Amino acid sequence: MITASNTEPTTAQAHPADSAAAASFATLLGKLDYLTPADVESVRQAYRFADEAHLGQLRKNGDPYVTHPIAVAVQCTEWKLDAQALMAALMHDAMEDCGVTKQELTERFGAPVADLVDGLTKLEKLEFDTREQNQAESFRKMLLAMAKDVRVILIKLADRTHNMRTMSDMPRSKWGRISNETLEIYAPIAHRLGLNFTYRELQDLSFRFLHPWRYEVLSKALNKSRHRRRDLMTRVQLEVENEFSRHGMPVRAMGREKTLFSVYRKMDNKHLSFSQVTDIYGFRIIVPEMTDCYTGLGILHQLYKPVPGKFRDYVAIPKVNGYQSLHTTLIGPFGTNIEFQLRTHAMDVVAESGVAAHWLYKASEPNSDTSQRLGTQWLQSLLDIQQETHDASEFWDHIKIDLFPDAVYVFTPKSKIMALPRGATVMDFAYAIHSGVGNRAVAARINGEQRPLRTELNNGDVVEIVTDDKAEPNPAWLSFVKTGRARSKIRHHLKTVAQEKSNELGERMLNQALRSEGIATLPSDEGTYKATWEKLLRFTGNKNRIELMADIGMGKRIASMVGKKLAVLLSETGLKPDPLLISTERYASGHDGSASQGLVTLDGSEGLSVQYAKCCKPIPGDRIVGYLGRGEGLVVHAEECPTSKRLQMRDSERFLEVEWADETVRPFETTALVTMNNGKGVLARVAAAITTAEADITHVDMGDEPAQTATDIRFTLAVRDRVHLAHVLRSLKRTPSVLKAQRYKPSKA
Ligand code: MN
Repeated sequence: MITASNTEPTTAQAHPADSAAAASFATLLGKLDYLTPADVESVRQAYRFADEAHLGQLRKNGDPYVTHPIAVAVQCTEWKLDAQALMAALMHDAMEDCGVTKQELTERFGAPVADLVDGLTKLEKLEFDTREQNQAESFRKMLLAMAKDVRVILIKLADRTHNMRTMSDMPRSKWGRISNETLEIYAPIAHRLGLNFTYRELQDLSFRFLHPWRYEVLSKALNKSRHRRRDLMTRVQLEVENEFSRHGMPVRAMGREKTLFSVYRKMDNKHLSFSQVTDIYGFRIIVPEMTDCYTGLGILHQLYKPVPGKFRDYVAIPKVNGYQSLHTTLIGPFGTNIEFQLRTHAMDVVAESGVAAHWLYKASEPNSDTSQRLGTQWLQSLLDIQQETHDASEFWDHIKIDLFPDAVYVFTPKSKIMALPRGATVMDFAYAIHSGVGNRAVAARINGEQRPLRTELNNGDVVEIVTDDKAEPNPAWLSFVKTGRARSKIRHHLKTVAQEKSNELGERMLNQALRSEGIATLPSDEGTYKATWEKLLRFTGNKNRIELMADIGMGKRIASMVGKKLAVLLSETGLKPDPLLISTERYASGHDGSASQGLVTLDGSEGLSVQYAKCCKPIPGDRIVGYLGRGEGLVVHAEECPTSKRLQMRDSERFLEVEWADETVRPFETTALVTMNNGKGVLARVAAAITTAEADITHVDMGDEPAQTATDIRFTLAVRDRVHLAHVLRSLKRTPSVLKAQRYKPSKA
């Protein structure tokens, strides 16, 4: 090994700080024997760069700052990480603390190293509030998912480990927060990745800085008891191994040492005394085959007497995370309780590797054999991939798919974490927060930028929903929401609203129809005209008045006919129509003398009871007519629409007069036909022109004719009215490469 004293003796003497840096780098060099000389040289260059970048910065203990990145790199050599990872480890704090840019790193060390450093810098910026337990789990997953390369997580763990080891140099006020974060975020990640040594070290270090006094006391007590029990452990190990050999099954019995943290956690959670926790001795026995677990159990129970009620069969019934073992507690020599775990090698691998455990949880098949086999297979394939691909990011992609096949983690503006299925959109998020937020959503900001409600969310997005009390769910949302919750909430709301709106519409239409018959107001169905209403409902076949109104509103019954019948029934009771009212109503409503169904005003808030025809897509400012389809409610067409003209000839009594309200509450969709030259970036310019004119593109239809010099593209746009559309078309016409822009009109076909 090269040491500082024989490489740079003079510097060491002149600058004690430099010598500390050189000494620790020498330690790192000594651990690089698994790299090629060229790789070692690259690592050396990264060290020089980092040393220069951190020049003059000191750690809290007075050492040059660069000793920290070196220590992180040393930890990475324990996991035999490659040169790129070691270089990134050496420079991991350079971007954050020294104003080094990513571009500079890319130029000097290549994109892969620069990406690693950049990834680490981004993780560094994530702040986490550990007060909420379930958020810790989400945060861990997000952290893992955000890192595009497994090496980022490994370097991060090495970084955290070194910071924990040197925590005593930090001000005491920071110990609690950092230790909690380590305990809840980083230790479980280490566990999940199978880095069990790091997992236990991080737990013990966190415990030490969270509860220094308890740690001291426990640590002394544990040392003492370790001494006391050595004889017993050796004796039990010999006795057990001999007994198994005698039965023709040679095994190794391994004494299990409890970590300080696990002792503490047991005492704390189960309110046990120190001796209650530590006087239980633990052994693990690895047997060849699954059935040997049970044979082994028989051997053990003959050797020592079992403690009743302490046997657990996690082989037949694995724990939810896939853990399998037989557990039993026996009374050993001197009457001491000894815990035994029996498992196969495959089960042991799964038990020690949290990554596999998580995957097994996902698979969670009732058949333990299958889940274990799959778990082992998966683990094996993981190791294969790791060995076969030198591309760490490809490896990481595999893990990620298995770990989080279907989740995306995003934040509310108040930094609350929400887990949503992959592909979830802004609206899924809105409904996940509260159905009131979803129902009233009008706009969204993602990471501070205005984005459409249909936008798919990415890990780490901060999502903010803008609501409006007057807003209502849009049926179009159903086409892009991913979660069942959002879907059912939207459906439920639309249905309820549609029902109410149909009732209202029906009531209005019948009232109007009755005026045309000379009766000014719709009488109540209670009191004087109760019997009249009953007759009317028998005639229409409806259960009650509300249902009849809904039927009229939905177009299942025609208002003028019901009105006529009601007028006849009312006149039978002596209520005579007012001839003056008849003439004014009929004069005002009909141009052609057809029975009036009343004027309906539309402002876009009608929900499902009113639909805007797909053929002509009318917008405010267009002359419109309403067609009462059979059971589909009111369909609004443009007056000159060929489809509606055809329907009018055939089915004129189903038409009623409609008009736009002076103020509409939402944009309406219509289609613009744009003819443009083919060319690079043209579509983007056209889309930009539309957006600049404040219209939303909801659909683009390119047609499938082969590309020629000019193309027709149909944009479905959401606009306020005709004036707005004209503005959009003008803006399109001014766009270079656009030859023609007009509103799309359905052909007469
Ligand atoms: Mn660091």
